[in-house]
Amino acid sequence: MRTIRAIAELRQALAGPRREGRSIGLVPTMGAFHEGHLSLIRRARTECDVVVVSLFVNPAQFNEEADLAAYPRDERRDAELAERERVDYLFVPSAEEMYPAGFATTVSVGRVTEMFEGAHRGRSHFDGVTTVVTKLLNIASPHVAYFGGKDAQQAVVVQRLARDLDIPVRIEVCPTVREPDGLALSSRNVLLSPDERNRARALHRALRATASAVDAGERDAVAAKAAGVTELEAAGVRPDYFELVRAPTLEPVNRIDGDILALVAARVGAVRLIDNEPITLNTNHARSPSKSNHRASTTPRRS
Ligand code: AMP
Repeated sequence: MRTIRAIAELRQALAGPRREGRSIGLVPTMGAFHEGHLSLIRRARTECDVVVVSLFVNPAQFNEEADLAAYPRDERRDAELAERERVDYLFVPSAEEMYPAGFATTVSVGRVTEMFEGAHRGRSHFDGVTTVVTKLLNIASPHVAYFGGKDAQQAVVVQRLARDLDIPVRIEVCPTVREPDGLALSSRNVLLSPDERNRARALHRALRATASAVDAGERDAVAAKAAGVTELEAAGVRPDYFELVRAPTLEPVNRIDGDILALVAARVGAVRLIDNEPITLNTNHARSPSKSNHRASTTPRRS
């Protein structure tokens, strides 16, 4: 594995493989690797000839100075893990390399960025994400770029970005990797105290409670959400949002008549966590058979 810090050097390194028709996979990350990151890297390794992992704690997407300052960083450990996963190139640019003096361009995606994380973290968050992802896609020109389903809204935004700007890349969204007790892996989990870590389990419990209510036939979104909110309240966790949405558009639903995504964000102590759960309809248990537009799904539930 080679660690590269300059944009021009990565371009040069990838020119040969590209000419030879070898496939290039890119995994964009902010480092502090855990099994979630490694699952994306492994997927890229099985699908692509050349694997590039970028490690860049992107200041532009942090809306709070304290969050940026506290963000865990350990390049040496990340490099060892990447090496073990047979990554070809670890791209670790500095902030100056990515945003040199005079940098003045923002890539901004509308609509799907305006709700949920965009509403709570402000416009600059997704502008920071979409600007850096556009740059990384332009720098590496990968055939495939891998993102985690854990950041569901981000995945939708990046897919929109690639489609709208005709960026010739396939965006692959990979399942969320969890701790045995259900907590979604996140680089921020290391910042939780033991008590907060315990309370953080309520996010996934809440998502599962809502999924169970839907499985049992609940079709009213308010009632299905109430099952989840009860779990959060029991743990003393107040959500920034807990919502049921249609997956491709992130538009909230009132009546559950198709496959949806349950989204949650909450602060546990000082740490803000997000999670989600795809919910597929089990039409056998629907309480309101008069609604005939239930869509049976064969999509397995990710968890
Ligand atoms: P980050 O370093 O937090 O920016 O994450 C880099 C990539 O890893 C993003 O595409 C995330 O969605 C993905 N990711 C983070 N946590 C997980 C997880 N628990 N399971 C799967 N993918 C994840």
